[in-house]
Amino acid sequence: MKPFSKINLRSQLHNLFKSLDFVSRNFLTEHKSEKNKGDFQAYLNIYQQLGLAWEYLGLQCRHGDGYKEIQDGKSACKICGKIKGVKDTYYFLPRLGHKIIGKRINPNSKKIFRNRKEALLLEDTINFHGACVNIDVHNMYKSRLFKSEINIADERSVSLTERGIKCSIDQHTVRINLKRNLKKIKRLPCSGFAWELRRETLRKFPVLFDFDQRGRLLGVMILR
Ligand SMILES: [Zn+2]
Repeated sequence: MKPFSKINLRSQLHNLFKSLDFVSRNFLTEHKSEKNKGDFQAYLNIYQQLGLAWEYLGLQCRHGDGYKEIQDGKSACKICGKIKGVKDTYYFLPRLGHKIIGKRINPNSKKIFRNRKEALLLEDTINFHGACVNIDVHNMYKSRLFKSEINIADERSVSLTERGIKCSIDQHTVRINLKRNLKKIKRLPCSGFAWELRRETLRKFPVLFDFDQRGRLLGVMILR
């Protein structure tokens, strides 16, 4: 569905508010509820479904006409009536073109939090046309490992999983995990710098290093 223009959106919302008022005024007053409980519940459901339509329509609103003061010092959008500062439950995304969800968040405190829950700033996953992107951002926190307490460093970690291959990026590393059946690997996996490995071992790795003339690493390609 194409997004509504501001004028169109305003009239859609105006009609919706009229419907909400109509249901509320005529079917949801107290004396009506006493007469027929079944009908009352049906109208209540309609009211809630209209409320959901309001929420979806409101996602298209850029709140371009500003806010008006309502009760308790709160402000509501002049077009869609949403309360300023209240987070939306859903996202509104264009089907074609660039899609944006959220803003970039980084660790934002030097404090060591008591646990991961308190330190967590964002943990979110999207499955985008079959590829999975996960973001995990947290401040520093205490954790227990083998009965001793350790500090887990603050981190912003992003990973992409495609065809069973996972590429993770954080402040210090870029890591690629290939799809391997770990149950078949009897010993613990090893790791080492390229210059530490035996030539025969290295020959089996289909890895190409990109570097410039000053010998600086530009990239790594793994052939599948
Ligand atoms: Zn609005």
